[in-house]
Amino acid sequence: MAIDSRPLAGAGRVEDTINLLGHAARSIVRVVSKITERPPEEIGRKAGIPLLLAPSIKAGLDLDWSDPKQKAAAIQILERQVSSLQQWVDRHLDDVVEQPLRTYLDAITQVRDQDLETAEDGTVRIRQGVAPDRRVSIEDAEMRHGRKSRSKRFDGYKEHIARDLDLPIIVACAVTPANRPEEEGAAPIAEDIQRQRLRLVELHIDRAYVNSPVVDDVIRAGGQVFSKPWGQRARSPDLFSKRDFKIDLRAKTITCPAGQVEVFEPGDTVEFDPEECGACPLRAKCTQAA
Ligand code: SF4
Repeated sequence: MAIDSRPLAGAGRVEDTINLLGHAARSIVRVVSKITERPPEEIGRKAGIPLLLAPSIKAGLDLDWSDPKQKAAAIQILERQVSSLQQWVDRHLDDVVEQPLRTYLDAITQVRDQDLETAEDGTVRIRQGVAPDRRVSIEDAEMRHGRKSRSKRFDGYKEHIARDLDLPIIVACAVTPANRPEEEGAAPIAEDIQRQRLRLVELHIDRAYVNSPVVDDVIRAGGQVFSKPWGQRARSPDLFSKRDFKIDLRAKTITCPAGQVEVFEPGDTVEFDPEECGACPLRAKCTQAA
């Protein structure tokens, strides 16, 4: 079996902080307007968020976006009006009516927590840097920024596929937000394979899946795992590289170029017998230590 992943585009629009807050606020007003059968413009005015009367939040703010001071003022104006809308909802709608709005009210809280901070002088500003699990869309709450490579970004999810290499059959699949490591996608795949009582003889994976539980399952059952190793360059061209040492992961042994064998535990440093190394004719190629 082979497991691999590829980008899966999210369904929602990716927006910056101002448009995320504006989008959630506009959705709240739209739902309230439907529930109360009042025009959205009236709700916007009553709830103290006249910005929503404009065709877009940024048009409503009507600022010079190249001026850093005006740009900083924009988020303060919007945050004040969004808070006013939240207070209005709290005051005027009971819990039952509030229920369809919950998604958008929670979205505002999440965007505020991840993207905004309060400065020492009490003003609200956009936080520097990107929050680790930043929400990027209002309508598709789980989608995230992901990277195919250092320069290629995508927005949405990763779809993980486990395919039988002998038969054209997809054995299991999973979807994770694009910012999550590959091994998280392999976990539900491993469960699904167990449920099907399949025994994997060979597993072919990218390095990103090496830490996933399915690898342990295959090794425990006596199968083989194939993955491209990390690049191994010697510290100096005159010295052996890691490639010159034979590592047996199943027996947990490492054999040096002169044939000395040591047992290792993953994560621990291996030390070869200094007596043997002292007399070894290959020593000069092995270490520069005294
Ligand atoms: S010095 Fe010789 S014996 Fe010691 S680890 Fe290197 S190759 Fe092996």
